[in-house]
Amino acid sequence: ESDPTLRAAPLPEDMDRALRPQSLDEFVGQEAARANLRVFIQSARMRGEAMDHTLFHGPPGLGKTTLAQIMARELGVGFRMTSGPVLAKAGDLAAILTNLEARDVLFIDEIHRLNPVVEEVLYPALEDFELDLVIGEGPAARTVRIELQPFTLVGATTRLGLLTTPLRDRFGIPTRLEFYEIHELNQIVTANARKLGVETEAEGALEIARRSRGTPRIAGRLLRRVVDFAVVEGGGKISRALADAALTRLGVDGLGLDGADRRYLTLIAENYHGGPVGIETMAAALSEPRDALEEVIEPYLLQQGLIQRTPRGRMLAHKGWTHLGLAPPPVPGQ
Ligand code: ADP
Repeated sequence: ESDPTLRAAPLPEDMDRALRPQSLDEFVGQEAARANLRVFIQSARMRGEAMDHTLFHGPPGLGKTTLAQIMARELGVGFRMTSGPVLAKAGDLAAILTNLEARDVLFIDEIHRLNPVVEEVLYPALEDFELDLVIGEGPAARTVRIELQPFTLVGATTRLGLLTTPLRDRFGIPTRLEFYEIHELNQIVTANARKLGVETEAEGALEIARRSRGTPRIAGRLLRRVVDFAVVEGGGKISRALADAALTRLGVDGLGLDGADRRYLTLIAENYHGGPVGIETMAAALSEPRDALEEVIEPYLLQQGLIQRTPRGRMLAHKGWTHLGLAPPPVPGQ
């Protein structure tokens, strides 16, 4: 079937760094977000102040981490990176915050998974650049206040709905990232192929872009795999026919769906007559965590109009039936 590593882990560190865009100009797509960031970055630089706290939300692989790194670079400040689940105790966060230099960018990935205790400590840090730490226990316990350097928190989340309201309210710049257009992915694939030094026909790059599920991370990964086929079987050159054959062998269909996507669609069609079916039932039947369905699989299927979310559960849309090569059931009363 399809290869789960196609979308799971990030690329190896060095490869990833080589392909990552280094500036807002080099970053393709997300026009609205980029235009706004450019203004906010310039303003912060001109005022000599830390940029406002920024929240990136959207499906995985759309460039949240990349944009955070670019912000630090364009602000001319340091970049520190951590993630919600890693910050287990208040002290973990305190250690990072007290080590920041003035105007640094602190990136917290998966910020919706912050421990509530850690989140409490974060509030005054964000608002007043102050940290209230409790030292000791019992009657001897006392609170000490620590002044912090002004800094910019950049949070990233795949699940905006799971953020607490107080945390959400502390981000002056909430930014939603969208799935990429095919012409944008085409630009990314073409640039990456050039960086990798692979000969690519325009139609070959376009075929990879079309099947990248609107996601640069997947585009990068599919390109690597197609390169392997090109080297071994295609005389080193990526043509449309070679890209098509390679992607089909990898289990990626014409819309960019992989085996996990098709299992999801097929389950609704064949076991639930097109739905509605509840997300918990889907998760159990597919043996996938509910989170993985909601964060990774569903956003693209929804964006493509293959499924619908209703109050009673998920339903296969007309396009979902036809994509599976099945006839939608007749609508009652018609
Ligand atoms: P996220 O943090 O949203 O999961 P990342 O920032 O880690 O996504 O990006 C995933 C991969 O896709 C990285 O290798 C990055 O270089 C690449 N990428 C993301 N956005 C773009 C873009 N707009 N142009 C080129 N490459 C991109």
